[in-house]
Amino acid sequence: MGELTSPSGPAHPVARHGMGDPGATGRFGEYGGRYVPESLVPACAEVEAAFRDAWADPDFRGRLKTLLTVYAGRPTPLTPAWRLSEELGVTLLLKREDLAHTGSHKINNVIGQALLARRMGRRRLLAETGAGQHGVATATAGALLGLETTVFMGARDIERQALNVLRMEVLGAEVVPVASGSRTLKDACNEAMRHWVSSAADSYYCIGSVMGPHPYPWMVREFQRVIGEEARGQCAAGLPSGVPDHVVACVGGGSNAAGTFAGFVDTTARLVGVEAEGGAAATFGRAGVLHGFRSMVLQDDDGQVAEAHSIAAGLDYPGIGPEHAHLRDIARAEYAVVDDEEVVEALHRLARTEGILPALESAHALAWVLRAVRTGEIKPGSTVMVTLSGRGDKDLPTLKEAR
Ligand SMILES: *Cc1c(COP(=O)(O)O)cnc(C)c1O
Repeated sequence: MGELTSPSGPAHPVARHGMGDPGATGRFGEYGGRYVPESLVPACAEVEAAFRDAWADPDFRGRLKTLLTVYAGRPTPLTPAWRLSEELGVTLLLKREDLAHTGSHKINNVIGQALLARRMGRRRLLAETGAGQHGVATATAGALLGLETTVFMGARDIERQALNVLRMEVLGAEVVPVASGSRTLKDACNEAMRHWVSSAADSYYCIGSVMGPHPYPWMVREFQRVIGEEARGQCAAGLPSGVPDHVVACVGGGSNAAGTFAGFVDTTARLVGVEAEGGAAATFGRAGVLHGFRSMVLQDDDGQVAEAHSIAAGLDYPGIGPEHAHLRDIARAEYAVVDDEEVVEALHRLARTEGILPALESAHALAWVLRAVRTGEIKPGSTVMVTLSGRGDKDLPTLKEAR
């Protein structure tokens, strides 16, 4: 990647405790930062300046709120899982991101970034995608706001995800195959960054989770904060205690979890992020640098970034967002691991008891809850809120194979 730079210095005091502004360095404890080639530093700095300006501007906030309401379907409901709660002996509440437009929380972030791109005078969105979910979300936001969209995708992923490729193309996006390396997400990331270096004047790089160089991890968390803030208000209105005992979300890069946790980090709620067994960077990773930031990363014995594997394509990522690594270090959040079998079981259980088919990603969070109730880690009578990050229609072919 050429010469690496990263600002050093102490973390911003707010970032140490309360999921605040990580300051100019973009540090969350020892994680985060901006490890990019010298040539990309100005582009990152420009995004940071534009985001700071936009986020302080009531007009920008108002436009975003309007689009999230009249287009994306917010606020999403907080649904009591009535029958499953009774079976488990706890009060289980579901934050329904599966009901947002395009079927997951990803829309919250891409609308925010696409609005920012417009504000910066850019005419094109660049994105990379693995299974295609972030690519579809970006293509959607591009169509909504009249921006061209170019999505980089590994050639192998293109073969495996033909339906999402078609979806992006129907939405007007150009899908560019990346034939280098393992021809998957990591190669698509490198290619998208390379392309950004040469076209930053007219293109905006839209990252899909709380990852990448500063300001992305912070900015994406702020765009996803709406999940946690809505849920906090909905819990305050609906629960005698006002705050659930446990707040649980799945973690791929960690954006739905970060947005959820941001609404509860200043409460007594226990925060739990749940990773896939084959992508559990918070549990099995070591500190390292990946795609422009320092975090916990899955590595082999030689320090090479390892490949992640999961039944849920959205959790198939070898790192986690830097703020999660920090929340884990300071013990404000905990990270757990579940295996594919538990996940499929949890998906079926929710489908049958509540008539809700969750995404396999979201079923990770639920699988941990089922286990924790069984082991007594969640006590009878507790209140548990789970963020259902997305709907499971996309996973039906995988379920069919798994039978
Ligand atoms: C992409 C995706 C995820 C993983 O992304 P995070 O950034 O960890 O939230 C989880 N659930 C669904 C439904 C997704 O599409």
